[in-house]
Order: sequence, then C-alpha cells, then structure tokens
Amino acid sequence: MSANFSFWNMACQQLDRVAQRMNLDPSVHAKMRHCERALIVSVPIRMDDGKVKVFEGYRVQHNSERGPTKGGIRFHPGVTLDEVKALAMLMTWKCAVIGLPYGGAKGGVICDPAAMSLGEIERMTRRFTSEIAIIIGPAKDIPAPDVNTNPQTMAWMMDTYSMTVGYSVPGVVTGKPIEIGGSQGRGEATGRGVATVMIAAAERLGLLPAQSTVAIQGFGNVGSSAAKFLYGKGFKVVGVTDVGGGLFNPRGLDVPALLAHVQKSPHKQIKGFGGGEYVEGHDVANARLLALPVDILAPCALENQITAENAGAVQAKIIVEGANGPTSPEADEILAKAGTTIVPDILANAGGVTVSYFEWVQDLQANFWDEEDVNRSLDRLMMRSFHDVYDVAAREKCDLRMAAQILAISRVAKAATLRGIYP
Ligand code: GLU
Repeated sequence: MSANFSFWNMACQQLDRVAQRMNLDPSVHAKMRHCERALIVSVPIRMDDGKVKVFEGYRVQHNSERGPTKGGIRFHPGVTLDEVKALAMLMTWKCAVIGLPYGGAKGGVICDPAAMSLGEIERMTRRFTSEIAIIIGPAKDIPAPDVNTNPQTMAWMMDTYSMTVGYSVPGVVTGKPIEIGGSQGRGEATGRGVATVMIAAAERLGLLPAQSTVAIQGFGNVGSSAAKFLYGKGFKVVGVTDVGGGLFNPRGLDVPALLAHVQKSPHKQIKGFGGGEYVEGHDVANARLLALPVDILAPCALENQITAENAGAVQAKIIVEGANGPTSPEADEILAKAGTTIVPDILANAGGVTVSYFEWVQDLQANFWDEEDVNRSLDRLMMRSFHDVYDVAAREKCDLRMAAQILAISRVAKAATLRGIYP
C-alpha cells in the first residue's frame, strides 16, 4: 500500500461526489464529513518475557443519527486513526443501506497478533476493552469482529465489560460464541452475504454459477466462507490468496478440502495444500490473482488493493467487494470505462453486520433463533437491499457504488434533518 494513501480522504472524496450529485443539504454534508467521537488509548501489556509493551488503540464513532453505533475491531500492524475513521464512516453507510437501526463505528489496535501468544492477545484485548468501556455499551456502541479478531476476542471483550459494570452484558459486543449469547449463523454471515449478492449480480449479467469462475483475495473469515458457499452453488473457484501466497487451479479448487487443510495448518494458511499450484509471496500471488481471466473477482482482504496501478489488468466482469474499501476511486474510474460491474463493499459485505444486528436483538430479548430463521432473514435483507440499490442505479443512471451511497446517505440525511442539531 502506498505510504501517502489516506483511506479517510478517499471516503470523504466518495461522500463529496455523492453529496454533489444528490444536492445534499450543506449542513448535513458538513456533519457527515466529521466523526462524532474518536478515542485514542494506550494499552500497556506485560508480555510473556516479563517486559511491558504499550500498544496504541482507537475507537471511532462516525455518526449516530440512526441509532447506536456499530462496527468491528481490527488487530493489525497497519491500523491507523485515519483508517479507523474511514472504516467507521463506511459502517454508517453500510448499516443504512441494509436499513439497520445503527450508525457506524470502528476500532483497532496497532499490533501483529501473529507474533503474539494467546495470553498476550487476551491481556491486550481486555485492557483495550477496559480503556474504551467509557464509550461502548449495548445502547451506545457495539463492537464486533473484524480483521484478526474472532468470537474468542469478543468473549474476552464481553467478559471485561461485564466485570466492569458488575453484571453480564451480552449485548455489548456481537460475533460472540453461541454459549454466551452469540447468534447462529454469525460466523459465516459475511461470506454468505457475499455469495448471495454475487449470485444475484451474476444472474443480472446472464452468468450461470455452474459456468462461472471466481478468484478470491483473502482466505480469512470472509474469503473462506464465501468460497465455501460459492463452491456449494457450483461456482469454480480457480484462485485464492492469503497473507503468505496464492493457490491456483484453472480446473477449480476443491474448496472443502482446502478449508479442512487450513483448519489443520499451524498458522491457518493455504500453503501446503496439494490441490493447486502454490505461489509463494503475498504481492506476487495477489498480482497474479487480480489479473486472472475469471468471470468474478472477490477482494476479501484489506482496503486499497485494486488501484490505478493494477486496475487495467483486471479481466473479471464482476467485482464483489467482500473487504471494506478494496477499490480506489481511480481504479473505480478505470473499471467503469472497461464495463466492469462492481458490487460495492457497503452492500456486498453487509451480511456480517446484519447478523450482528440479529444477535444484538436476540441478546436484548434473551430469546434465541434457529439457524434457519437467521439465514432466511439474512438472505431476505441482503436481497431486498440488492434490489433497492439496483433500483436507485436504474433511476439515477449511475453505478452500483454511487447508488448504494445515494441510498445510504439519503437515509442518514433524513434522520439528521428530523433530529435537528442539539442544543
Ligand atoms: N467488521 C464487520 C464489518 O466490517 C462487522 C461489523 C459488525 O458486525 O458490527 O462489517
């Protein structure tokens, strides 16, 4: 990623473009260009060697016009305040596209969890939670998993918050294990949603699953579960990458076998799987993946992956953004000229936060749903939002990103106008 890339500037640029097109009220626009609240915390941890290391963490709440704020926590060496602010803004739009009664937030800690022991990660998670406890809560701001965080991380967060207030508060975070108030279907919800909108977008272009090839960047929670669903629907997954490298097989990878391999491998990586050609090295593998002659490309890793430098090499007819912000505005333009359909992040990866919402509702009511009920409700909301976005695109004669943003921003703007400005 280039050193001078600002994800926040990119998110504001996208907002400005939409605001201009919608003739958005300048006072509402001005409010949206700022985050309501940003907390920077230091997180001192005693490491296993006895030394103290201090990590920096953030929690940013972008906009709460439509309800309490919501968004994940990432643990990654590349975390910055700029990035967390941008991701918080994207969460505002994402929740609004689906119609969830939430605003957007995000959090992160600058760290490399791959180089830390489980105990160190637990202590860091707990101290971070305690530092941000003053601004989170089931009625205020509800964290969830994101890059390198998982149900266990959420269990520690829930426990730390509950110990602080003196009673169990399952609704303070989502993406928890089922045993402590998590929801059926949450683990695979983002991947399931990615697959759902991918199938719908492919259908619109006359592509049949059984004849379509897919390349997936990233094999974490989102990429691996998307691969599983797509394989189940008959798509041929011909390439996947992860932090270490990439796997390629033009005849299609055996996804269930690959998932089993990753589960067993010490670092949960695709390396060592026999059913394809392995290319060592993150950058080389990704360059090859993005340029594959596939029907559909699903970037499911980090932001700013498809840029002005490599967009010209993309051959896919459809890009489905499983990650947040994987395509830069310059790449967007290049791909639009090439006729590529992009299903934007705030729609494509909204399955996770949608089931997070179901989890929160279940926690508040202490009444838990069956997996079929969760999946049926998720599929219904994803398809409804997909059609809403396509309708706006047809009406406004614009691409799907612009349409999704128009839909989201107009919903947030309506709430902002109705509520007015305090005091
Ligand atoms: N981190 C996920 C996202 O980017 C999920 C957020 C949530 O469930 O609150 O959408």
